[in-house]
Amino acid sequence: MITIRGVRKAYGSVEVLHGIDLDVARGENVCIIGPSGSGKSTLLRTLNHLEDISAGTIRVDGHLIGYEERAGRLHELRESAACQQRLQVGMVFQHFNLFPHMTALENVAFAPIKVKKEKPAQARAYATELLGRVGLAGKESSYPSKLSGGQQQRVAIARAMAMRPDVMLFDEPTSALDPELVGEVLAVMQDLARTGGITMVVVTHEIGFAREVADRVVFMDQGVIVEMGPPGQVLDDPQHDRTRSFLSAVL
Ligand code: ADP
Ligand code: MG
Repeated sequence: MITIRGVRKAYGSVEVLHGIDLDVARGENVCIIGPSGSGKSTLLRTLNHLEDISAGTIRVDGHLIGYEERAGRLHELRESAACQQRLQVGMVFQHFNLFPHMTALENVAFAPIKVKKEKPAQARAYATELLGRVGLAGKESSYPSKLSGGQQQRVAIARAMAMRPDVMLFDEPTSALDPELVGEVLAVMQDLARTGGITMVVVTHEIGFAREVADRVVFMDQGVIVEMGPPGQVLDDPQHDRTRSFLSAVL
């Protein structure tokens, strides 16, 4: 579903991704762990074309990110056109940024109606179903300010799912939450991973979640993938000193 080859990213003269190769299979759940500043968010954002890359290629479901094919030739996409490509990739951020003046239901149904031109009744029905799936049945009419952080983040997950993405990206979705609210959000993500058939890439510091839910764990440090493999391997029997010292610091 995702093929990343030789991806480099520089901000000005400073390169922060030094040649990333990674494949994610359809339906797979990959958790990315690593110290702050190692390039996890940058890598995730390139998958969504929120960042241009300096070198390499990224394909999502066969489509070259940042390009589109017209008349048999590849054309580099400008920002506006790139938005179209993002439709198939949903993203959930650390700060959920719901629209404060819209109810939970309106937040979820908004983009399908405005961007995908779904019929409002159909979009609202699907939004209701998704809110139920993230454990928020009965909260359809609540405004974000009346919801806890964990509930808001679950609305944000439903909002991303409403676009029926092939791939869901999560960038530290529980890092901004009070500790007692982390579990309910992880439970929703675990449910998606188990039953959704959806491809997920999750940047997280929740090692327990990675251990239980990830098909593969990727450890990044200083702009490179240091090692990756099944959770039992990377988390319990890491091959590199950098992985060992990171894990001993967070566990
Ligand atoms: P992580 O998510 O692993 O903490 P990031 O991907 O956010 O790491 O950052 C990787 C590196 O890129 C860091 O050194 C960070 O300072 C730098 N960086 C991130 N975003 C920008 C930006 N917009 N401009 C310049 N440097 C950036
Ligand atoms: Mg980050």
